[in-house]
Amino acid sequence: MKIRCDCGGIIVDQTDYLPYKGHLISDQDWFDFLDAIDRAIEKSGPADKDKERAAMSIRRMAAHLTKLIYQCTCCGRLYVSNEEENLETFVKPEPFEGKSILASSLGGNWKRPLIGDWDDSRKGSIKGYLWCMDLKEGEGSFDSWGNLEETYYDTLLDLKEKNNSCGEAKVSL
Ligand SMILES: [Zn+2]
Repeated sequence: MKIRCDCGGIIVDQTDYLPYKGHLISDQDWFDFLDAIDRAIEKSGPADKDKERAAMSIRRMAAHLTKLIYQCTCCGRLYVSNEEENLETFVKPEPFEGKSILASSLGGNWKRPLIGDWDDSRKGSIKGYLWCMDLKEGEGSFDSWGNLEETYYDTLLDLKEKNNSCGEAKVSL
C-alpha cells in the first residue's frame, strides 16, 4: 500500500517493521486485550495445539482491535485508519523536526531482524536475499551463497556490536 501525503510525500507500506507505522488500540479495548492474553496463557490447555489456537486467537483479536497509524516522514502528518477503512488525517501544528512518534519505544536499541533466504531453484542468477534495515538499496540480492553468508554474518556481527540484533539466525534454505 502507498499513501500519497498532502505534502507530496509518499508513505510506503510494503514490508514489516516500519518505523513510521503503528498499531493503535483504544484504552476502552486495551484491558479486554490484556485479559484475553491472561486467559490465553492461563487457560489455553496443555497440548501444543491448544497453545497454538490460543496464540492465533490473540493475533486475530489484535488485528481486530487495532487501527493502523502512519506518520509522513516528510511533514509529520498522521494518517489513522477508521472503521470504514479510510484514512483520517491529523496535521501537526508546529514545524516537523523529523522525529517519528511511531518508532520503537526502545529507540536506537530496538533489536531489528536480519532475515536471509536462499533458493537454488530460483530462475535467473539471483538466488538469495538478505533483508535488514541497515542494508542499503541493492545490497540484499545475491548470486553466490558465499557472498550471502559472508554479508549475513558481517551484518549480524555489526548489529551485535551495536546491540541492535536479537542474535537469532533466521536463515531459510
Ligand atoms: Zn507529508
